[in-house]
Amino acid sequence: MKVKIGYRDALIVVDMQNDFMPWGALPVPEGDRIVPRLNEYIELFERKSLPVFFTRDWHPENHISFKGHGGVWPPHCVQNTEGAMFHKDLKMPLDNKFIISKGTSPDFDAYSGFQGTPLDSLLRERGIRRVFIGGVATDYCVKNTVLGAINLGYEAFLLLDGIKGVDVNPGDSERAIQLMLDMGAVGVEVKELT
Ligand SMILES: [Zn+2]
Repeated sequence: MKVKIGYRDALIVVDMQNDFMPWGALPVPEGDRIVPRLNEYIELFERKSLPVFFTRDWHPENHISFKGHGGVWPPHCVQNTEGAMFHKDLKMPLDNKFIISKGTSPDFDAYSGFQGTPLDSLLRERGIRRVFIGGVATDYCVKNTVLGAINLGYEAFLLLDGIKGVDVNPGDSERAIQLMLDMGAVGVEVKELT
């Protein structure tokens, strides 16, 4: 399948932050391996002057998702720490780039890039109808961002070669991919985009 991207399309790169990389506090195995592929997607959208959105966890130190504060996760992506920074090799465009911070207040967590953020209004304002979503983790924030996009009426494309999962339970990522496809997401690879 060939997909021609144009001015109603946007790229959403989910949570490519140090703490989700193999050296981080909440590692996604091989999460760093998808950086070169995501850079290919970024370059494609940048070349066409299309917007690229980067979501990030951006938690206060006492965040509700952290162990000891009511949550199940080790502390991760604490605001302004090295762990919260994007992978250094991720090629952020100079223009037409948006950073979407989520989980920014102590008592609210978000697995979807749409929850409690301006992402939807920024997309709508630009007339975006289709979103192309990759990043980490397949079975958490990618899944919830894709489903959120679909529920909000966007056509969602899942970047099959630009995602990695955690698999806390074996098969979680595969099940997440199947769920996204069942809910209407379209799976694509970079070679299919023109
Ligand atoms: Zn988090």
